[in-house]
Amino acid sequence: SLTPVQVALHSHFATDLAELSVPWRGEPAPDPRLVVLNENLADDLGLDPDWLRSPDGVGLLTGTRVPDGATPVAQAYAGHQFGGFSPRLGDGRALLLGELADADGRLRDLHLKGSGRTPFARGGDGLAALGPMLREHAISEAMHALGIPTTRSLAVVATGRTVQRETPLPGAVLARVASSHLRVGSFQYAATIGDLDLMRRLVDHAIDRHHPAAADSELPALALFDAVVSAQASLVAQWMLVGFIHGVMNTDNMTISGETIDYGPCAFMDAYDPTTVFSSIDHAGRYAFANQPVAAEWNLARLAESLLPLIDESQDRAVELAVASLGAFRPQYGDAWAAGMRTKLGLPPGLSDDVAGGLVTDLLALLQRSRVDHTTAFRALRPAAAGDAEPLRRLFLDLAEVDGWLARWRPVGPDAERMALANPVYIPRNHLVEEALAAATAGDLGPLQRLLEAVSAPYDERPGLELYAAPAPDDFVDYQTFC
Ligand code: AMP
Ligand code: MG
Ligand code: MG
Repeated sequence: SLTPVQVALHSHFATDLAELSVPWRGEPAPDPRLVVLNENLADDLGLDPDWLRSPDGVGLLTGTRVPDGATPVAQAYAGHQFGGFSPRLGDGRALLLGELADADGRLRDLHLKGSGRTPFARGGDGLAALGPMLREHAISEAMHALGIPTTRSLAVVATGRTVQRETPLPGAVLARVASSHLRVGSFQYAATIGDLDLMRRLVDHAIDRHHPAAADSELPALALFDAVVSAQASLVAQWMLVGFIHGVMNTDNMTISGETIDYGPCAFMDAYDPTTVFSSIDHAGRYAFANQPVAAEWNLARLAESLLPLIDESQDRAVELAVASLGAFRPQYGDAWAAGMRTKLGLPPGLSDDVAGGLVTDLLALLQRSRVDHTTAFRALRPAAAGDAEPLRRLFLDLAEVDGWLARWRPVGPDAERMALANPVYIPRNHLVEEALAAATAGDLGPLQRLLEAVSAPYDERPGLELYAAPAPDDFVDYQTFC
């Protein structure tokens, strides 16, 4: 007999925004097996890891045991995908189980991905394969450890169901935690319906959960927009500073909270090249590394359009205000990026913007010209500042160029200690991620566990992890990722 599942899940989204959700249940998992559990996160959430490993816990993590009183829903949202608008996307293979309240009363969504078809599934099978769910687990945890806002992965459970892709693959469900799953596309969906009352409730809900100071503004919808602009400017700057390429920055994949979401085709850049694209479906390079700030700004313009009717009764006035707010994105992004680069190069605070900017631009040009590994090069700056430039010099063929740059950089007195906290030594490198996922899919979790161990403390160089600090082998080229 089944014991009740004692997890207090709130249903604020399902209740407050009923038009944006469809109550739904997960498909049964024929032979569920817990593959990875994020014990630290479970502790943070007040969930007992031992209980999560029990059949009831695994039932919660696959959506087949729903706590009493919870209302799992599939969320509705719209979205611009590669520039083309779809008025109805929604969770085709995901469920919001509900919200967990932490000790401070802050809500966090508990959400499942790969839990079966929903009314939004269109042609999809509603399922997820084990490899991609473990990929989200590893990369989102790496992002979190890097200090970058992101959704978290609580667990991945293999379902025992076979998922048909190009080949038959083991199926899995990812249990994801986020400060919410509100996206730009949520607002686009409500705006497309044209229901002003729903829009008002959505704005209130978003303000309440993410940007409470906006409630005190005379123009709350505009203040909410300002807050999202700031959060995204900061987020994308952080991506750019570590060489992260999201890969599918559609408006349904951009959060209102400013957390990174939807780890499908994302990957970290190896050799520095602003035109890098990994996603197999991004043919035009819309979401190439260097385009990410522009893509974010474009998405924010779509959010502004959705909010216009709530910004001001006069459309002209609303547009004027929204344009001015959106205008803050470029300077905020630019300032965040420049400040981050100053830290990465250890530049002293008093150094002029001209000199600092020249050092940054010229270093990046050198990396690009010589196709040098981004992470390795920045990490090598610290020994160079401390007197040993060999780790940096050996990355280049043209030593005269790098020596010329060092001769300008060293005299400014770079701060080696500050630098070490901004330049990670371990990122989830593509060749190692692929290796770990292939092994895990074949039943060996060892490589994934070691990768997780490395990337969960990315700034702290430890013996025995040299493999995770090394650039990709020379024959690892033309890497492609899939949604
Ligand atoms: P994404 O590119 O991951 O942001 O997904 C875009 C849309 O496709 C969302 O509405 C997803 O819910 C839906 N989707 C992706 N994969 C599947 C699947 N296997 N079954 C059903 N819907 C899916
Ligand atoms: Mg998505
Ligand atoms: Mg996806």
